[in-house]
Amino acid sequence: MNVIIFGPPGAGKGTQSQNIVNKYNLFQISTGDILRNEIKNKTEIGIKIDKLISEGGFVNDEIVDEMLKNFVTNHKYRNRIIFDGYPRNIKQAKNLESMLNSDNQSINFIFNLKVKREIIEKRILGRVVCEKCNKTMNEYLNKDEIENHECGKNFLKKRKDDNHETIVTRYDEYMKKTKPVLDYYSSRSYFHEIDGSEKIQVITTKIDHILRV
Ligand SMILES: [Zn+2]
Repeated sequence: MNVIIFGPPGAGKGTQSQNIVNKYNLFQISTGDILRNEIKNKTEIGIKIDKLISEGGFVNDEIVDEMLKNFVTNHKYRNRIIFDGYPRNIKQAKNLESMLNSDNQSINFIFNLKVKREIIEKRILGRVVCEKCNKTMNEYLNKDEIENHECGKNFLKKRKDDNHETIVTRYDEYMKKTKPVLDYYSSRSYFHEIDGSEKIQVITTKIDHILRV
């Protein structure tokens, strides 16, 4: 089976992908990783990309598609792929489909982890780490746990990189870019919207239930 997973930064997409990869023995595809691998392994396309970058050029859609095609049609990976962060636009979505169809494959499941911005904000901004025992908690979501924490409350610190503006910008950018792709897929019978504000385990169970059918 081939799976696509969508979700804004902070929705737990990475955790869920990893879980699917482990449980169903899939390969997670990230175009950035493939690109680096092609260059490292000095493949035909890798050499082309390396030359392009060193000349100050950029990697266009055609190159990404060619690279992706090598990967998805590789007998080692075919029909065992989870796409994360791809496709990013409708053109890529259409390309991916024709690429898979021409190799007798298809997309079997699409998951969209839907989470409101306010929830992501709370998740990230409320994050506190105990400097004594390294435990991570959330001041909005684990009030009781924080109140009863064995080290006391003096060691609880917020992380510096949990900046509000960055979170909001990343979320809005993601939603704006991804909405057309989601609209493109949303009427498919294998498109599943999952409430990403639920606990990690609850989301995992829901995804599992769908994948096992
Ligand atoms: Zn502690």
